[in-house]
Amino acid sequence: MCYAIPGKVISIDSKTVTMDYFGEARKAIFVTGSYEVGDYVYAQGGIVVSKLSEEDAIPILKMWEKQFFELKARDAILSEQSKFESPISPIIKRAEKDETLSRNEMLAILSVEGKDLELLFQGANRIRKNKLDNACCVHGILEFSNYCQNNCLYCGIRSGNANIKRYRMNETQILEAVDHSVSLGFKALVLQSGEDPFYSDEMLIALVKKIREKHGILLFMSIGERSKDCYKKLFDAGAYGALLRFETSNDLLYEKMRPGRKRIDRINLIRDLIEIGFIVATGFLIGLPGQSKDDLINDILLTKSLKPDMYSFGPLIPHPETPLSSIQTPSLDDALKAIALTRLVDPESKILVTSALETLSPDAKKKGLMAGGNSLMINTTPKAYSTSYDLYPGKSTERPITETIKNTIELLYSLGRAPTDLGVTNDR
Ligand code: SF4
Repeated sequence: MCYAIPGKVISIDSKTVTMDYFGEARKAIFVTGSYEVGDYVYAQGGIVVSKLSEEDAIPILKMWEKQFFELKARDAILSEQSKFESPISPIIKRAEKDETLSRNEMLAILSVEGKDLELLFQGANRIRKNKLDNACCVHGILEFSNYCQNNCLYCGIRSGNANIKRYRMNETQILEAVDHSVSLGFKALVLQSGEDPFYSDEMLIALVKKIREKHGILLFMSIGERSKDCYKKLFDAGAYGALLRFETSNDLLYEKMRPGRKRIDRINLIRDLIEIGFIVATGFLIGLPGQSKDDLINDILLTKSLKPDMYSFGPLIPHPETPLSSIQTPSLDDALKAIALTRLVDPESKILVTSALETLSPDAKKKGLMAGGNSLMINTTPKAYSTSYDLYPGKSTERPITETIKNTIELLYSLGRAPTDLGVTNDR
């Protein structure tokens, strides 16, 4: 978003550039175009998305320089070591040394209560700071259709929900909404829909081409299951990101929650996306009925084993028009514990603080960022549609997007988080 700092290319190796952010080096991949040492670029999610002229870059860097070091100092203060010790202190120390935690240690982390919780969140936040510094990415998300052919038990836009106003944006409407999102400063945008076959592969590919001809942004597709061939064409058209959660690592639970679907097909598709070259965000739901702490640990470990570029997981907020309407909403602490454990298990990961988590409490976004999270998404769907993309209660707000952006920037400033790219952390 408008909260973005360009990096200066200081070295190039095959398809990877190393960028300098005021003395801090980060790597990013470039899929197309050519770059030279000395170029100024914007990167998002570890992908170079656009080049700037020196004339444009220098004033932006001058504007940021003083603030960049102030943000780092603030993050360092907020990440300081706690003096307080508890039974989980040795586990946090082992994670800080990149040691692999045992399952019993992970269970202990998920069972933390009371004053030890603060110690856990502080530890996870410190690991985030030590591994990835204060970089924090903010992506936009544009929901272009709430039709879905599936009937997942946990989802408000499931095909079986007759009490929802359905909408599909046409190509012109989507392009206008993308233009608007870019004009607000977003440099990474997720195009999301239910699994909606109304949009043929060809329509989506043409849409991606039109967007990428006009905008130097990282475009994520979040459109559910399509063929590998379709995804390859979307990648070639210029969509370099894909968001596809596997929802649960438990086969039986998966088949119960997603009737007619097999978990293995989902996992294989996620692997295909990574093989194609996509920046992949994936993860799971917290609070599925029957999900045990062991399942949650398996969810985190499965996500890690897939080597995604970003973890995307959040609490299941029960929707009144679904078969899961009466289940209990996970507590904010349980959701934060999952973020903190993920940070301990995969210290260099990018962890999204999801909008579902934000519905649990007015300060959930801040707490997620202070428990190990380092990425955010802001909904840029036009207000005429966003209330109908009713995945779970409390998702939409009447707040104007400009106000959400302003509040988010203020929050990131207050936490000392900088809009430098998080860079590539996985081996590619
Ligand atoms: S979770 Fe996804 S695939 Fe399932 S019903 Fe909702 S939008 Fe459709």
